Formats: sequence, structure tokens, C-alpha cells
Amino acid sequence: MALVVSPDPQVGQRILVVEDNELNLKLFCDLLRVHDYEVEPVRDGREAVTRARAFAPDLVVMDIQMPYVSGLELIEQMKGDPDLRQVPIMAVTAYAAKGDEERIRDAGAEGYVSKPISVVNFVEAVKRLLDEAVSANSEEENEEAEAENGPKADPI
Ligand code: MN
Repeated sequence: MALVVSPDPQVGQRILVVEDNELNLKLFCDLLRVHDYEVEPVRDGREAVTRARAFAPDLVVMDIQMPYVSGLELIEQMKGDPDLRQVPIMAVTAYAAKGDEERIRDAGAEGYVSKPISVVNFVEAVKRLLDEAVSANSEEENEEAEAENGPKADPI
């Protein structure tokens, strides 16, 4: 891999937080802002897909238990949307019943944390998903560049 000095990918990354509970929404958003993420809160799941399209997030934090529309449905909708499907989703759920994690992953979420969240685990899980997405994208870009220009020479 080429040794290119790139800016810290964490700075200014955008996170859409979908959560109907006001206290949790504030907690998640405050936590993420402290870590320099740009945050967009969504209280009503029915707005989530439209807001995601407008905000173009790098990651979505998705509550599962919500009125009107469940987080599982929203994950499926986003993963079926050509503009949103590459955005990693971290699901957050209060009921870690057996099979829940499997259902959430089957719906297409890349990550999963259970409530009550551990502050450290929450932030680390977000960072890990964003890092994975960044390296997956840059691998794709490298492959595209190599397809166009031939393999890059290794820097000395
Ligand atoms: Mn909820």
C-alpha cells in the first residue's frame, strides 16, 4: 500500500443518530460531539431515510425499538437504497434477547451494541466501524486507480 499522509479520517465525520428516546438521543449526540463527530439527531424514525439522504452520513446509529417504524425495518430500507447502502449502521437495542443480534445483522447492520451502553464501548464501536469503512473504500479506490493506471510503484 502506498504511504500517503492523509488527514485524520475521524475529524468531521458525520453521524446520523436515530433514537426516539430524548435522553438517549442527547447522550449519544453529546458523546459523539465530544469526539469531534458532526452529528445529526433524528427523533422520528419515519424521517430517518429522508434525513439520511440529505445529511449523507459516514455512519448511522440506529435505535431498534421505536414507535411507527422499527430500526430493523429502517436498516432494511437503507440497505436497499443505492445511495445509502454503503453507509455502515450501528444498531442499538435495549433487549439483547437471544437471536436479536442475528436478526439485526441479517437486516444488514454492520455493528451492534446493547443498552444500557458502556460509554467506552459505544465510542470504540463507532470508531471501529468508521475505520473499517474508510479502509474498505480506500482499497476500492486503489483497485480502481490500478485498473486505470497500472500498479503504483512502491514509495521509497
Ligand atoms: Mn427506542
